[in-house]
Amino acid sequence: MSDTDKDFSTHFEAINALKEAGFRVNPLIEKVDDIEGVIKYCKRLEKKRETLDYEIDGAVIKVNSYEQQKRLGETSKNPRWAISYKFAAKQSTTRLNDIAVQVGRTGTLTPVAILEPVEVGGVTVSRATLHNFDEVKRKGILIGDWVLVERSGDVIPQVVKSIVEKRSGKEIKKIIPKKCPICKTDVVRDEGEVAVRCPNKFCPARLKWRIRYYASRDAMDIDHLGESTIDKLLDEKLIDNIADLYFLKKEDILKLEGFKEKSAKNLLDSIENSKKQDLSRLIYGLGIRHVGKYASQLLASKYSSIDELSKADEEELKEIDGLGDKSAEAIATFFATEENIKLIERLKDIGVKTKEIKKEGLPLQGKKFVFTGGLSTLSRPEASDLIKQKGGIVASSVGKDIDYVILGDKPGSKYEKAKKLKLAIINEDEFKKLVT
Ligand SMILES: [Zn+2]
Repeated sequence: MSDTDKDFSTHFEAINALKEAGFRVNPLIEKVDDIEGVIKYCKRLEKKRETLDYEIDGAVIKVNSYEQQKRLGETSKNPRWAISYKFAAKQSTTRLNDIAVQVGRTGTLTPVAILEPVEVGGVTVSRATLHNFDEVKRKGILIGDWVLVERSGDVIPQVVKSIVEKRSGKEIKKIIPKKCPICKTDVVRDEGEVAVRCPNKFCPARLKWRIRYYASRDAMDIDHLGESTIDKLLDEKLIDNIADLYFLKKEDILKLEGFKEKSAKNLLDSIENSKKQDLSRLIYGLGIRHVGKYASQLLASKYSSIDELSKADEEELKEIDGLGDKSAEAIATFFATEENIKLIERLKDIGVKTKEIKKEGLPLQGKKFVFTGGLSTLSRPEASDLIKQKGGIVASSVGKDIDYVILGDKPGSKYEKAKKLKLAIINEDEFKKLVT
């Protein structure tokens, strides 16, 4: 671009002309007046970095005037009128001090890297995920190793690899625990699964996760019921399962450290409000293995109540278009378990909405949609709500069972896949006609 075209005297003019001619120009390009402006811009962009759907590692700052560019000239390697500003690195190396074991919502034992604290992309990291024990083995990660740690987007920091050249010979292998670190029950490994699990349904670690999951934003969305509050409720033995949340009294909560009249009321109000949540959120909140947001929506569109769902057998569930066999199996197992049926009975008794009157003849009943790219007049949540109001379902990935792919600006790989599968691809206007 260093050619000084007769028609343009600045780089910015040229960019704008390209844009007008129909070329795709990055919308984040900006013209600033001085070095203060450059600094402010770089700081702003670094913050924005996490929200972009593509990776960037910095910005290029250029002198705008072609005349000035010419006067500055270039060295043998680089122009003197352009320079790059690099953001804080998203990878760092540090020592892996230990591998701890965490017990998750479904009892899965997960190895967690305990690191010598290190800055990664401007944040101090002292723990990172190692996903599962097979991965630790596959990557050959040893306790005491120097490791490469990476952060990207909102993702939890992860250990990329060990730096083998830095080994002293004193590093040790992490042995897969034979017992749950929390309740000491012998662990099991399901056939065909990588994960090692604590099979104790009453393991305190699982209970904590189940409650956190139930209260989470995509499930019953219980405000004010964060991790530390759940810990306190469990420590004080005020709750023993999900349904107990609805039996909490203000006096109980006021006993907890840090709670006052107002905050106790807020917590109770948000627990009470969660009784009215949609059936799909309740299904998701139950934390059935292999049943995520999409599967929960599918189930809620097919069945009008938890009771009806609980009576569906595995074969029937496997027939549901878009629901995997693993999910069908897990749902059948969930409802064949006595404690789960008891839990649902208690939730019903206390007034949690477990059925939904299906509005008959909704125009998009059971139709499945996937978004790719940004819409210009609607946000994703707004567009998703419109689909759900008409009886449709929003999926996150493209598959044969998808009815419509909504094509927005700058679509991703989903667009290519949709074309290959010959799915119906509609633009924003066509989508709006469908939902209004
Ligand atoms: Zn356990």
